[in-house]
Amino acid sequence: MGKLDGRVVLVTGAARGQGEQEARLFAAEGARVVVADVLDDQGEAVAKEIGNAAYVHLDVSKEADWTAAVAAAKAAFGKVDGLVNNAGILRFNELVSTPLEEFQQIVNVNQVGAFLGIRSVAPEIAAAGGGTIVNTSSFTGLTGMAYVGAYAASKHAIVGLTRVAALELAAKGIRVNAICPGSIDTAMSNPAQLDPEADAQAGSEALDELYRKLVPLGRVGKAEEVARLALFLSAEEDSAYITGQPFVIDGGWLAGVSVL
Ligand code: NAD
Repeated sequence: MGKLDGRVVLVTGAARGQGEQEARLFAAEGARVVVADVLDDQGEAVAKEIGNAAYVHLDVSKEADWTAAVAAAKAAFGKVDGLVNNAGILRFNELVSTPLEEFQQIVNVNQVGAFLGIRSVAPEIAAAGGGTIVNTSSFTGLTGMAYVGAYAASKHAIVGLTRVAALELAAKGIRVNAICPGSIDTAMSNPAQLDPEADAQAGSEALDELYRKLVPLGRVGKAEEVARLALFLSAEEDSAYITGQPFVIDGGWLAGVSVL
């Protein structure tokens, strides 16, 4: 028996990184998974490898893409009763140097994308008799970090959206929570993973060296570990009485200042 037997879950940004691991883990736990992304070749390949999955092209910032993705999900699997709003982008810039276009681009993907996801999928989850939404914030959704102002603003907004959605959707049997990862070893934090010329392993080791000092648990996080938290928040048997909350998964980074 899988924890998600009978469920149909749409995961955005599932062509790689945390979304890919969420899609794989959810499928392993019995869900039929809709792999959604803008990276069509990678997304198709992930869905094919998973087997009980379908790929849809979905730019989360585009309303029409959401309409088409929900229709495709229902055509493939008959319903949608789970959503993981995972897609996101990160840019580094000092606030006073951030072009408006860059700020808006980040808000459009991270914040508007999550809003459109909730708005498009919640009625389907309600029609299916209830289910779950997991939004992806960040530990910068709960605290500041220099040079990621637009990103942190969008991730703070996701915590607010999560709380309001939980209040409004509880009566429809929909639980809504947010995950707030610290530094996780994906292409977002380790771009060497995307460069065939670069040594991704060396990039990971450099990250580990950095986080050995910064993070109480002494290392960068793994996408699989974040996927486990998303599973916990999506599985009725694990989290039936939890809604409206942000969950930090950061190796203790946010606990306080470590002087060890
Ligand atoms: P990643 O860059 O490997 O994956 C992001 C995925 O989102 C990619 O597949 C990308 O194609 C997709 N995507 C980007 N724009 C999109 C759009 N407009 N529509 C649909 N898909 C789009 O990074 P990741 O670490 O796997 O990031 C997953 C989520 O976790 C993001 O929301 C990110 O902000 C958040 N997060 C990451 C970290 C970290 O350290 N890696 C920390 C905290 C939060």
